[in-house]
Amino acid sequence: MNRVALITGASRGLGKDMALRLAQTGCDIIITYQTKLEEANGVVDQVKQLGQKATTLQFDVGDIKGFDGFVDKLQAVLNKKFGTEKLDILINNAGVGATIPIAQVTEEDFDRLVNIHFKGVYFLTQKLLPYLNDDGHIINISSGTTRFANPGYSVYASAKSAIETFTRYLAKEVGARGITANVLAPGAIETDFNGATIRNNPQIKAMIAANTALGRVGQAEDIGGIIAFLCSPDAKWINGQRIEATGGVFL
Ligand code: NDP
Repeated sequence: MNRVALITGASRGLGKDMALRLAQTGCDIIITYQTKLEEANGVVDQVKQLGQKATTLQFDVGDIKGFDGFVDKLQAVLNKKFGTEKLDILINNAGVGATIPIAQVTEEDFDRLVNIHFKGVYFLTQKLLPYLNDDGHIINISSGTTRFANPGYSVYASAKSAIETFTRYLAKEVGARGITANVLAPGAIETDFNGATIRNNPQIKAMIAANTALGRVGQAEDIGGIIAFLCSPDAKWINGQRIEATGGVFL
């Protein structure tokens, strides 16, 4: 029986690459999207071309009240399309960026970012623990900005820091079931994230590249393979860790 992975926000960007790299290791994939169904269907096609099963589910990580309905749909999909009751891998990846100086952050901005990047991840994980097989894997996506300060990212990065703490507690509480929980913290990656800041701003891109040991910004393809490794038997002894993947930025 193939392992089944649920990746939130896998219609594009990092989540898409995670889906393809996990599929290459023989996983079947459930891809969530928020609005871009067509892109999500494109990822499903690519996973199927790799010989694995895949499907999409609509999901809003900021809509915590909608999680019970999402879990019901997930259960139905697991049964009908994958012939199983449970997942093996949960990747909490979905997210948005926003550059807002502290002086301008509204309570609405704060609640939106904290719901998406902390509260939503916390309660989705809580609700999915009964649907995760023993010996499975949970990976939460954080950010290099919890180690270095990027002006305008105070709420986003604080929520990501909370996820890093949550992951250590998670690892401790689910360890008895053989489940590992880790954080992957990417640096700047040239995706659609935060209005495609990196792609659209040559000066910012050049500044980050100049401060990166490997001399460039990241691409989505730099990330999926790390996720596949962390979900492999060879990575079983890596647990409760924050792994940074930035090409060596601001060392
Ligand atoms: P993208 O903007 O390329 O993709 C975002 C994905 O998340 C899409 O699948 C999108 O769905 C989904 N999504 C957005 N908002 C929500 C929501 N409220 N509920 C559910 N799904 C949502 O971003 P990246 O791939 O670059 O980012 C992925 C993760 O990596 C995020 O957690 C981000 O914080 C983190 N990260 C990114 C970095 C970067 O520089 N790119 C650096 C460090 C961390 P749809 O396509 O339907 O809109």
